[in-house]
Amino acid sequence: TNLVTILFHLGEMATITQSLDEDTFQILAEELGYKLQIVSPEDEDRELLESFAIDLEAEEAEEDDENRVARPPVVTVMGHVDHGKTKLLDAVRSANVVSKEAGGITQHIGAYQVPVEHEGEERRITFLDTPGHEAFTAMRARGAEVTDVAILVVAADDGVMPQTIEALNHAQAADVPIVVAVNKIDKDTANPAKVMQQLTEYNLVAEEYGGDTMFVPISALKGTGIEDLLEAVLLTADAALDLRANPDKAARGIAIEAKLDKGRGAVASVLVESGTLRQGDAIVCGTAHGRVRAMFDENGDQVEEAGPSRPVQVLGLSSVPRAGDSFLATDDDRTARQIAEKRDAIERNAAQARGRKRISLEDFTKA
Ligand code: GDP
Ligand code: MG
Repeated sequence: TNLVTILFHLGEMATITQSLDEDTFQILAEELGYKLQIVSPEDEDRELLESFAIDLEAEEAEEDDENRVARPPVVTVMGHVDHGKTKLLDAVRSANVVSKEAGGITQHIGAYQVPVEHEGEERRITFLDTPGHEAFTAMRARGAEVTDVAILVVAADDGVMPQTIEALNHAQAADVPIVVAVNKIDKDTANPAKVMQQLTEYNLVAEEYGGDTMFVPISALKGTGIEDLLEAVLLTADAALDLRANPDKAARGIAIEAKLDKGRGAVASVLVESGTLRQGDAIVCGTAHGRVRAMFDENGDQVEEAGPSRPVQVLGLSSVPRAGDSFLATDDDRTARQIAEKRDAIERNAAQARGRKRISLEDFTKA
């Protein structure tokens, strides 16, 4: 665990430049086995804490790098209302031959994976199936950036509309590469060339025009162009990103949705970001904790383990987490409960803490 990871566990999702309140530092110090004193920059405890954290960070980065393997890209579908986001998610899902052959009943768990044959390789793509940039923005606001690639759906008969621009602004602000799905090409009034031309104004320049954005004509209604779109997602991900994660460690990731079920209790859909989540693992998710009693995939099938980029529904949490809450597997129940309690304490004190003096991590490490 490094400094940032610990803060992440505490629910603060920090980068080195973010400022943090003193309470958070206090808890962080405790986690590292220190009693933090409130301090002058010269304070020895601070220096100790700093060097300790940096050592751990280097260690983890090294260990991680050796064990990282390719993971599927995580995709969000965005675009203007009625341009076909839901239809596209349905089309992608029903093109998923594997689940059809298995005869499984599809379950809505907030995300699903599809296999894609790509350059002779069997690849996978994870789709978040809550369409729209509202979900994307809500997750980001909570510090959760799970999307690797955005598919921007633009209806070819309607062209670029206000929410098209809003969606692409969000994706570009988050540095998420965009693939444009030019939808409804089955319509007589479809004008795909116009969509391409309109989007050049927003720095989405088609390869045909000398840019590097892939535009794929599709009909979500008829199911045409879906394979090409999936290929484009993989090509874009491979060109822009290095999507790898270490599956050989305790799992961590993000809750994508959750609910209370009468019979089954708290039911949380989580996306594993790194490590492998296993049935029986102790976990903390937001301020909820517990043991993974059972896990299910998007076909309703029980699964024993889930690696990076895999969405699963988890049973066994003490309460219902929120979308965007981070989760991690811990060594034991006690640790999970303690982290949950600390997060809870932070949340309860949040309003108070907000008004207090804040010190930035950068100042802290410069000292
Ligand atoms: P969303 O609001 O972006 O989720 O849009 P929907 O998926 O609900 O689609 C809006 C409407 O457009 C629905 O009536 C769909 O049947 C229709 N639609 C979606 N994709 C296509 C398409 O490729 N061709 C045609 N002709 N209609 C489509
Ligand atoms: Mg919809």
